[in-house]
Amino acid sequence: MSTEKPAEPSLTADTPFDDHNADTILRSSDKVDFYVHGAMLSLASPVFHDLFDLPEAPTPRPTSPTSYTMKRFVEMAEDRHSLDLFLRWCDTRASIPVEMSIPDIAMVIRLADKFQMDSVASRIGPHLYRFVESEPLSVYAIAACHASLTDEAKATWGNALAKHAAKQLLILPMPFQPPVHEFFRDVPAIILEPLYHYHKMCGAAVRQTIDEENKEWICDPSRWPWLHQCTCPKTWYVGSSKYAPAWWKGYVTRLCELLENQPSASTILKLDLKDVLMSIITGQCQCTAGANAVKLAEVLRKVEEFISGLMDIIEKAVDKVVLDFTKTKPSLPIA
Ligand SMILES: [Zn+2]
Repeated sequence: MSTEKPAEPSLTADTPFDDHNADTILRSSDKVDFYVHGAMLSLASPVFHDLFDLPEAPTPRPTSPTSYTMKRFVEMAEDRHSLDLFLRWCDTRASIPVEMSIPDIAMVIRLADKFQMDSVASRIGPHLYRFVESEPLSVYAIAACHASLTDEAKATWGNALAKHAAKQLLILPMPFQPPVHEFFRDVPAIILEPLYHYHKMCGAAVRQTIDEENKEWICDPSRWPWLHQCTCPKTWYVGSSKYAPAWWKGYVTRLCELLENQPSASTILKLDLKDVLMSIITGQCQCTAGANAVKLAEVLRKVEEFISGLMDIIEKAVDKVVLDFTKTKPSLPIA
């Protein structure tokens, strides 16, 4: 830091960072001067506090009528866009952009980390919720860097958001396609470990709930007319002295395989399981293949009940799995 008047030509930042009465100039890497109040940044950030607390260089003789020389002057590594967005979150006079992109949010959070302004990160972090459906991996990566706590009571916004994004990612098979955003290249690979573990555990939990805990419900002939009406040979033992036809075993096995890789209740909707199930019922079950329209309408209604019940079963199984950050303590690299 110095108080010397900068030699290069520069621009002045937009309002409210154009207030020449401010005591400090932060110059962006692309030569734009931001006029800020040092006391405000010092209070909010120990890094700025230390930076402004350094002994100042001797004030040079004024070379112009402006009070340039009497201000603190700090050259920043950030460009105009980054500095403007970041300072808006630090300065109560500034308006905050209503809609920010994921890279912009990631950038502000990275700067909040760099300048140790936790309150900024915790205020902007929850803005990532609206990207959970469209960009779950990006959201997870940013949030996970602010989770990783061993103490539940100290859980931050990052824990809740990372869990939300991880659950959304269950609809995709692993490995995930990395996002195109530049910031993702700086994300340490270690933060993906808890995610991959969680995904795998959810897959196992869903398989277990379908294949074991709820097998009797899935294979209950009193519930599902396609099993009740079926007179195909029943060779698959499903427990409690009950058997189901072999074609039904084929279907349940395939269901387990699909859901093990994409263990989300939404997978069922994505895969259009209703059509698959109907084609199996009307095709593979030889004895009811010629079912009349009335029977088919009843089957269709029960298929919907089956699908909706299955979604509840999957949801409950997944909700029991914990996204565990305690084995890793990742953090975003600070530029
Ligand atoms: Zn049959």
